[in-house]
Amino acid sequence: MKSAQTAGGTGQAGEAGAGQAGAAEARAGRLIEVLNRALPGGRIITDPGVLAAMSHDDAEWAPAGRAAAGVRARSEAEVQQVVRICAELGAAVVPRGAGTGLSGGANAVDGCVVLDLARMDQVVEIDRDNLLCVVQPGAVNNDVKAAVAEYGLWYPPDPASAPWSTIGGNVATNAGGLCCLKYGVTRDYVLGLRAVVGGPMVDGAVADGAVAYGDVVRLGRRTTKGVAGLDMVGLFVGSEGTLGVVTEVTLRLRPALAGTPRTVVGAFPDLVRAGEAVSQITRRGLGPSVLELLDRACLTAVEDWKHLGLEADAAALLLARVDTQGDYGAAESDGLAAAMTDAGALWVAQSTDDAEAEALFEARRLAYPAFERLGPVLTEDVCVPRSKVPAMLAQIEAIAARHGLQISTIAHAGDGNLHPLIVTPPGDDAARAAAQAAFEELLDEAIALGGTVTGEHGVGLLKREGMRRELDPGSLALQQAVRHALDPRGVFNPGKG
Ligand SMILES: Cc1cc2nc3c(=O)[nH]c(=O)nc-3n(C[C@H](O)[C@H](O)[C@H](O)COP(=O)(O)OP(=O)(O)OC[C@H]3O[C@@H](n4cnc5c(N)ncnc54)[C@H](O)[C@@H]3O)c2cc1C
Repeated sequence: MKSAQTAGGTGQAGEAGAGQAGAAEARAGRLIEVLNRALPGGRIITDPGVLAAMSHDDAEWAPAGRAAAGVRARSEAEVQQVVRICAELGAAVVPRGAGTGLSGGANAVDGCVVLDLARMDQVVEIDRDNLLCVVQPGAVNNDVKAAVAEYGLWYPPDPASAPWSTIGGNVATNAGGLCCLKYGVTRDYVLGLRAVVGGPMVDGAVADGAVAYGDVVRLGRRTTKGVAGLDMVGLFVGSEGTLGVVTEVTLRLRPALAGTPRTVVGAFPDLVRAGEAVSQITRRGLGPSVLELLDRACLTAVEDWKHLGLEADAAALLLARVDTQGDYGAAESDGLAAAMTDAGALWVAQSTDDAEAEALFEARRLAYPAFERLGPVLTEDVCVPRSKVPAMLAQIEAIAARHGLQISTIAHAGDGNLHPLIVTPPGDDAARAAAQAAFEELLDEAIALGGTVTGEHGVGLLKREGMRRELDPGSLALQQAVRHALDPRGVFNPGKG
């Protein structure tokens, strides 16, 4: 396994030879000893197999370093202890939720503590009167949905990983999902946070009255509006664990939806025509709550695995959902069908049979794990303006052909957020190199079309170079300045983002 980049002077980067390895071992030993003294029993993980498993996320192509230890925190106070100790001893803290990330964001760096928040999983409060809930960071997305549903409420953000991924991970990556097209992404639902942070320093010392490493700050609010001060919650959402460790989240909720949604499915002879339908739907001002794309290879991978009775009789399927009720919903559904037909669909079907539709949406959610069965998946997450979806889909095919690769695509197509997936035969180094070259070309094409290198998975380790090609140099410099101001010792998830 290659080593992840180490930052902040916290690891073994550049160390060579037995002496330096010995020094790293000694540092790790001292760190474990101090953690052991500070934390209750059962929190610290040093078993090499367990530690290796918690040292990487689901981005199988991203490098991971060697952690000194893992800590399974059970309280905010324990998180504080870990951050204080790591800051004091010069070790990095890599926060971790469920490890379903697809960019290497939760991957260990050498000598770090992997801080696992999954056991802080309580729904602390559900406030029906004010349409909000307060949860610990390790609460799983679907568990939060189920808890608030008992009160007739709904937490919309629905990454396809919702059965496993945590709210802390969703916040740190600003996760999107299927219904985010209509209802917005995680950021739109985070009212407030508690986080264990670092501290602004002046001339290398913590300034009087300033927060210090291990302090807890409360950011944001419980009201639906509020503009007192800078939007610190907005800054933390999507910061990939680089500004601090989120220990509690106050989430905005909506009333549960009423009625049965309509589903519109269109089958297309090629990907580009499916992309044309997406552009048409946007141009015509139609408002589906979900607009997802699956290509034939994805359908086949799911069918081979789950036998849901899916027929991969087209090059691509578009799955749309309309949750508006009554005549307006029916008109919207007809409008979607017309847009798909006009874009060249082979067939279009409308349905209010939820069971039938659910098999297709299940296939969409299972597409990624179905591909993982075929080998380590290199996952793109480009997002382009919606009018450019056909052009991006054409580029995916062109790049695949140029590199002799099969690139399959699933997409939150209505958002312009495409996930080309690349799997190469195990041990085929040439194919692996071609895949990596194709990955970078896809990023460049997205940038050239006015898009971004990551719509929802985050930069992590896989898109660091792409992000640098995308962003204005001034914007990059400001980001570095913010990170340095909030984490001058480079403790929080260094080398990511
Ligand atoms: C099958 C599958 C489907 C997916 N579908 C989607 C999708 O539709 N939309 C989408 O956006 N993503 C999707 N993902 C990616 C992934 O699920 C999301 O990025 C998710 O938000 C990660 O949550 P996690 O709990 O697994 O976090 P992890 O992977 O453990 O961590 C993700 C990042 O968050 C940081 N972090 C975690 N917890 C905290 C915390 N408490 N404080 C500070 N930082 C923290 C980590 O350091 C890391 O940088 C999918 C992944 C899989 C495997």
